[in-house]
Amino acid sequence: MLPYLKQAVKNLFSKPSTEAFPAGDPPKAAEGYRGRISYDPNKCLNCGMCLRVCAPQCMERTIEKLENGDQKITFSFDMTSCTFCAMCADFCTTKAIKLTDDYMIVGTKPEDFIVSASFVKKAPPPKPQFTPEQIAAMKAKAEAAKKAKEAAAAAAAAAAKEG
Ligand code: SF4
Ligand code: SF4
Repeated sequence: MLPYLKQAVKNLFSKPSTEAFPAGDPPKAAEGYRGRISYDPNKCLNCGMCLRVCAPQCMERTIEKLENGDQKITFSFDMTSCTFCAMCADFCTTKAIKLTDDYMIVGTKPEDFIVSASFVKKAPPPKPQFTPEQIAAMKAKAEAAKKAKEAAAAAAAAAAKEG
């Protein structure tokens, strides 16, 4: 009994071994902690690999067509169903996804638990438009080049035969 009593009295005058939180600064997460996801749309290639490896399917990609033909692509991560496995980050070749040391994932509305960002994918340049005459001229040119090539090959073969 005496050792316990001694320890109890000692504890009354010693500093607490726990962190003073929320009174003080939040304690730092341990190294390698996998917390809230961060997504950098500027590094994203839109390859979709992260979507394929996410087992709980807590990621979403939406594509919105803009008036000028570009596409607004948005990636969203739902922290309420994320298992923080880091597979998405591991498979992302450009390191666009990271798991941060932010463990304070709290909120009052569903949106508070969504990590989301967008980027714009430019539309490909329009295909050149040719008139029927231009197309016919191009075909004739290609045909003439083909014939010239065949004639040159035949002449070379004949010369080789004679020599
Ligand atoms: S794996 Fe990376 S680059 Fe590919 S779509 Fe996901 S975030 Fe973008
Ligand atoms: S950490 Fe795992 S569960 Fe969370 S979004 Fe990435 S792949 Fe999905």
